[in-house]
Amino acid sequence: MMATTAGCLGYPRIGKARELKRALELYWQGRSTPDELERVASALRRENWLTMRDAGVDHLPSNDFSLYDHVLDMAVTLGVVPARYRAIEDPLDRYFAMARGRQDAATGIDVPAMEMTKWFDTNYHYIVPELEADQAFRLDGSKIFRELREARALGLRTRPVILGPCSFLLLSKLGSGMEPSRSRWSFLEPLLRLYEELFIRLAAEGVTDVQLDEPCLVLELDEQAQDLYELTFERLSRLAPRPKILLTTYFGPLRENLPLALRSGFEGLHVDVVRGEEDVEAILDGLPPSMSLSLGVVDGRNVWRTHLDIANEQVARFRTRFGADRLQVAPSCSLLHVPVDLSTEARLDPEIRPWLAFAAQKLGEVRALADAAGTPTPQNDAFASSRLAASSRRLSLRTRKPEVRARVSAIEPGMLRRASEFDARSEKQRARFALPPLPTTTIGSFPQTSDVRGARAAFRAGKATEAEYEAFLRAETRRCVEKQEALGLDVLVHGEFERTDMVEYFGEKLDGFAITENGWVQSYGSRCVKPPILFGDLTRPSPMTVPWSRYAQSLTNRPMKGMLTGPVTILQWSFVRNDLPREDTCRQIALVLRDELADLESAGLGMVQVDEPAIREGLPLRKRDWNTYLRWAVDAFRLATAGVRDETQIHSHMCYSEFGDILSSIAEMDADVLSMETSRSRMELLADFARFDYPNDIGPGVYDIHSPRVPTSTEMVDLLRLAARVVPPRRLWVNPDCGLKTRAWPEVERALAEMVAAARIARAELGGLPS
Ligand code: GLN
Ligand code: ZN
Repeated sequence: MMATTAGCLGYPRIGKARELKRALELYWQGRSTPDELERVASALRRENWLTMRDAGVDHLPSNDFSLYDHVLDMAVTLGVVPARYRAIEDPLDRYFAMARGRQDAATGIDVPAMEMTKWFDTNYHYIVPELEADQAFRLDGSKIFRELREARALGLRTRPVILGPCSFLLLSKLGSGMEPSRSRWSFLEPLLRLYEELFIRLAAEGVTDVQLDEPCLVLELDEQAQDLYELTFERLSRLAPRPKILLTTYFGPLRENLPLALRSGFEGLHVDVVRGEEDVEAILDGLPPSMSLSLGVVDGRNVWRTHLDIANEQVARFRTRFGADRLQVAPSCSLLHVPVDLSTEARLDPEIRPWLAFAAQKLGEVRALADAAGTPTPQNDAFASSRLAASSRRLSLRTRKPEVRARVSAIEPGMLRRASEFDARSEKQRARFALPPLPTTTIGSFPQTSDVRGARAAFRAGKATEAEYEAFLRAETRRCVEKQEALGLDVLVHGEFERTDMVEYFGEKLDGFAITENGWVQSYGSRCVKPPILFGDLTRPSPMTVPWSRYAQSLTNRPMKGMLTGPVTILQWSFVRNDLPREDTCRQIALVLRDELADLESAGLGMVQVDEPAIREGLPLRKRDWNTYLRWAVDAFRLATAGVRDETQIHSHMCYSEFGDILSSIAEMDADVLSMETSRSRMELLADFARFDYPNDIGPGVYDIHSPRVPTSTEMVDLLRLAARVVPPRRLWVNPDCGLKTRAWPEVERALAEMVAAARIARAELGGLPS
């Protein structure tokens, strides 16, 4: 009898020490050759394969690697290259031009990057393929075959990862100039012919198995999409000869789409039972005898060590039902979404460390589960140490603090409400701050110059004392406040020079978070993020922002905004514990922020901004689940902010998401003033405000902070005029789209001077500013 095998759907591409990032950046700067870049890429692939093989993975992926993004790779494989890039002859140049845009004076090439958006509900971003009206598809299998052969040269057989045709179409956008009635599905037929050609060629190459990713099966599909999925499966399953197909889904349950997958006619199905546990019974009942199952029981989205006994019980149920040889054990999804290797963390808290598993460690878990194959209570090292870690985590005084649990249980509805309604608060705040109409402000951060980064690096390396570093930051803050006063801004900020990152900063100050040194995860291309790890019940040993805010306020008579990151954004941009419902963890974050707000208020700060740029990112993949999330997310913000006096003005800020469809929830957050980015979709947001009567003060961003270009006051006055048509001018604020940390001082000063001038012109023009 065959044994249960171990699979892996994809491995992080960036390398243990972010080698890919460095290689890409060198190449983009023109400091390395295509060959040198390729050498690094090939070494990374080799290292990944050998790591997986040595960990005992039976089904190794290939084509999971990418120089930028796997969706862009698939677009190139299918010939979906928009006309504007086709003039670029060199394939690598063309590829990076699509990913990042290209300006080249010598050749006159000036093309913007393609659109980028979030990959499902992860923090990974993919390049959105763009289908043109006269789209001609053309198969270019070179990347897929190159990686196959590269692995073979190492003596390894791989299972190529191929993004499926239906998900590819659903993740694409229709290019401009397309008749409005044209459906994306009109491209399915020619696309299917390419997939058929690809599979036939793979079979000819001797490939026995492919991993066909169809993650869109976890989304709500309309009837047409369901029908065309059906047709696609029928076409591809009938094809002969072809490799065996593992239909691969992840990030959630398939629910109503499960029957579709079960009748696909393919030889295998991969399901994510970490997030899709609710499908388990239906799979046990419905998997046809012709299909084998790849069971995603090891969480590929989070950093926790698997409780192997629990996962093994899950495996046992499937093994009993289907037998060992129809079963593979795997991570729930590609390991792209977790850091590479825990063994690079030398300084991690020794109590926390055994609770964690990064990509490399997760491979070992998959192997241990495949070996155990559901036999009860295996006695081996892997299971023994998993048991030990699980009990240490459960019993730790840091994961369960009775006083925190008691406080969360004692939350009552009154704590979610400000003392008065907005109108009454607003009147008191107007009297207190006596601001001019159309008050000007900024979003929080000011340029993080190389001086600032250098000072921080010196301090971290022990080359500067804490006192020296503090003195530097104070001087920087003072200079920033002086500049804002000189520019004539009405509401000031301290500049956030002491913060590297708006979430990690709070993670460092709160008890219940661990910070890694190398826990990087790819966000897009060469960009990586290092989310802090929220492992335990949260407490605030001491105020986190009060000294900086108090100091900044002491430098000016104008109102200074305290600056906090909101509970939902901290939750969204961290690795979050899996032993407590997310909403409970979010409430704990809200409570520590509530305390911080109280301290800021006592320290004399009259305004506090609580940023929630990630609120929309938390939305569940299916609309049916949205309301539950929005309820607790909005309530967490209210819990954090509602404890202050009427006279204290709460600001919030959001950016780079489409907020139109959740405006009523945003209104329910009940911030006194909300600043919002508009450059991405200036007209749309204003149209949204025309439809939805946002009740409180609002500052639609009047200039894009992503460009070094300095906007003119005329442009900004135009925008304010537009805004004044949909928002009563007395509730309108004037501010940039987002924080200024990525910009340089000279352009910031000029842009803000223009902005202040724009506000003055608009004030005069809008006259006495009636309501
Ligand atoms: N206050 C933060 C800043 O100005 C907000 C950043 C953000 O919206 N992502 O940088
Ligand atoms: Zn922002």
